[in-house]
Amino acid sequence: MFLEKIVKKSLTERISKLGTKHTCVRHKTYYRFQCDSCNALFEREKGSIAIKRISNDYKHVCGACDPKRFAQKQGVRQRKILDMNVSSDTPIDKL
Ligand SMILES: [Zn+2]
Repeated sequence: MFLEKIVKKSLTERISKLGTKHTCVRHKTYYRFQCDSCNALFEREKGSIAIKRISNDYKHVCGACDPKRFAQKQGVRQRKILDMNVSSDTPIDKL
């Protein structure tokens, strides 16, 4: 689940040829997600995730979880829902 966009500021110090200190400010954009498998919070750097995935149309799985196993479970869940809807074992008089 996509939660929010965060901008982190990081300061780096650089010493020039003449020995003077320069402070450089860098802004990095991160996106915060909640794992759809274990509910842990995790972040992804802006460049490391496709823009289209930054929405709740997609599922998000953290680094500790196996995305393939998660996807498989999603399929099983979907099939269960479908089986319930198109169950042919239910007698017509019990509907
Ligand atoms: Zn997880």
